[in-house]
Amino acid sequence: MKKVGFLYDDVFLKHEMPPGHPESPQRLIKIVETLKNAPLWNNLIHIRPRRAEQEDILKVHIKDYYENIKTFKGFYDPDTYVSQHSFEAALFAAGSVIEAVERCSKGDIERAFCAVRPPGHHAETDRAMGFCILNNVAVGARYAQKIGFKKVFIIDFDVHHGNGTQHIFDDDDSVYYFSTHQYPHYPGTGRKQEQGIHKGTGYTFNIPLRQGSDDRDYTKIYHDTLPPLVKTFDPDIIIVSAGYDIHIRDPLSDIHISNEGIRNIVKGILSCTYVTGSSCLPCVFALEGGYNLTALSESVLITVSEMLENTY
Ligand SMILES: [Zn+2]
Repeated sequence: MKKVGFLYDDVFLKHEMPPGHPESPQRLIKIVETLKNAPLWNNLIHIRPRRAEQEDILKVHIKDYYENIKTFKGFYDPDTYVSQHSFEAALFAAGSVIEAVERCSKGDIERAFCAVRPPGHHAETDRAMGFCILNNVAVGARYAQKIGFKKVFIIDFDVHHGNGTQHIFDDDDSVYYFSTHQYPHYPGTGRKQEQGIHKGTGYTFNIPLRQGSDDRDYTKIYHDTLPPLVKTFDPDIIIVSAGYDIHIRDPLSDIHISNEGIRNIVKGILSCTYVTGSSCLPCVFALEGGYNLTALSESVLITVSEMLENTY
């Protein structure tokens, strides 16, 4: 069995939403309740997240935005609500990925799942967007590089394209960004032709998928297309934007992935941790979307169970 860290803190519940908002604290309450009722709860290594330092956030976000969002309250855009404690929750969400990466580097764990909110992949360097305040995965990737993981491979299977993450690493050849997403769909980016800019050209790989795409399409991509890309890039760590709004029961999108499909995607991703040699690459999952509470919690349970058991 693999050493799998699970990062969660009640601070994430203090990021409150107006009534009816899909990105609610209930998402994490349901995930934790479901995992606690499963035997694997005792096999996970439970880790308290840390609060990300300003210095680490500013590797990704500009100072003006950091200062603005620190005190901002209300609707930042029509989707993104910022409550009294949202900024604090966002610091811990980004800090979870940081803590997970650091624990991997120390060998305390081999893989991690960060059950966090607010999510991150739509957040741009200079603004919140699409329920996201700080780009958790991007902050984690930069921190990973700071502590010696030179090359980072980011895999984003959320149903929405991670515009923020793509733009942050657009011109960077040390961070690879791979995304599958419904297209056309929010936020409108993620065409196949978007492949990075300047020296980052060739280090962004977008697979836009028509509505109705299903387990078969995703299994092919995650088992046939993705592993050779990881092998060629030869990363030191993999970080995953895990968005479960690809699930067939999700209310915000129209991609038809079943529970078994989720399992196959996770298996494909974990197979990538073995492609670069004898030792297994560290792999950190960070929660993004997923808005049907039952589908979301079942999907996370499947993910962590694969992370524990999948040893090839
Ligand atoms: Zn999403």
